[in-house]
Amino acid sequence: MTSPAATLSGGLSRRNFLRAAAASSALAGLPFVTEAHLAHAAIPKFAPSDQGIHIDANENPMGPSEGARQAIAAIIPKGGRYLFDKEIGFSELFARQQGLDPEMVIAYPGSSEPLHLAVLAYTSPTRPLVVADPSYEAPMWAAQAAKTPILKVPVADPKGAAINDIPAMLAASSTPGLIYICNPNNPTGTVTPFEQIEKAIDSVPKDSVVMVDEAYIHFCDAPSCIPLVKQGKNVVVLRTFSKLYGMAGIRMGFIVGQPETLKKISALGGQNPLPITAVAAAKASLLDPELVPTRKKIMAGLREENIDFLRSHGYTVTPSVSNCFMLDVGRPGKQVQAAMAAKEIYIGRVWPAWPNSVRITVGTQSEMAAFQKAFVEVMKTNTAGLEPPALHPRLQQTPFSHLS
Ligand code: PLP
Repeated sequence: MTSPAATLSGGLSRRNFLRAAAASSALAGLPFVTEAHLAHAAIPKFAPSDQGIHIDANENPMGPSEGARQAIAAIIPKGGRYLFDKEIGFSELFARQQGLDPEMVIAYPGSSEPLHLAVLAYTSPTRPLVVADPSYEAPMWAAQAAKTPILKVPVADPKGAAINDIPAMLAASSTPGLIYICNPNNPTGTVTPFEQIEKAIDSVPKDSVVMVDEAYIHFCDAPSCIPLVKQGKNVVVLRTFSKLYGMAGIRMGFIVGQPETLKKISALGGQNPLPITAVAAAKASLLDPELVPTRKKIMAGLREENIDFLRSHGYTVTPSVSNCFMLDVGRPGKQVQAAMAAKEIYIGRVWPAWPNSVRITVGTQSEMAAFQKAFVEVMKTNTAGLEPPALHPRLQQTPFSHLS
């Protein structure tokens, strides 16, 4: 059978592509996965969200801001309408705030969808995806669906700064389809210097693209790459309301890029109205000047307190500026994850490149106090032989072993 990616680049519609994908046995499961799927796939049992402590999916326990909650409540009576004008007005607000032309921004219900579509639009069996390792896996899943070669490039200075190794990523292919740079990186929480990202953008062939995923940018002082879009550069930037804004379950995000690039990417998806509750909440969040600095400060305090605690107990932790960090547990991370889950504390997954590390999402003060206590206890026990995670039946439908 012709590969889905070949048929796609041959000009078939998105619908036909999906039909072809569904017919392919390799794609019998979902081709696209998100942080939520990956986090749930990694925990030893499918833990109900209202049971135990969940610091495994880089969510924000603070939830939507007070202003966002009020905006949702106020819009509910209008829930019988599409309110397209509000959707347009919301995107335009973000464009204005960022000094962009409105055509340089498209809003989606979360950044996962444009992330996947960008990978499908720019990669193919002959145009690889280049990613750091460890980094967020969703682009690899999309590439897998398109039968695209995936070039994983180990992060530079893994025991220290642990940043995307841009020179090595550029050297990985002379004809990359898409170079994915997560900044700050998920799962390490580390920042790649702006000058290096700019160099990558300036170096790639014109028909390739660099995608900078700024899901976690609000937690740190790193400069955004959105100004590079304004300068006309060949880069797409992803933003989400799932992290600092606490709206993972409400769903809202943006892709930012050159209008022609966005046309090519968005053409692979359908036209689907945004939930008006999400539009209202995200708009209220954008209009609140205190939200980012306040939450950034709260996060920094909690994160540093926990990193200090772990380092004082002799553990190596990545120098994160985000809401998560990698913790080297000095033994198979999956065992520690399983032992913690037995105490109903669900910590994040293990990346194959760093089998002795687990990702910890920074939760509330009380959640982290419970984490610290349980972690110290677990590390005093012998975890050898603890069962690797068993997937929830729904997640077993997905080919989760492919990328290990
Ligand atoms: N990008 C990164 C790096 C992420 O970690 C996530 C979620 O955790 C996403 C994108 C997707 O988030 P959402 O679809 O909720 O906007």
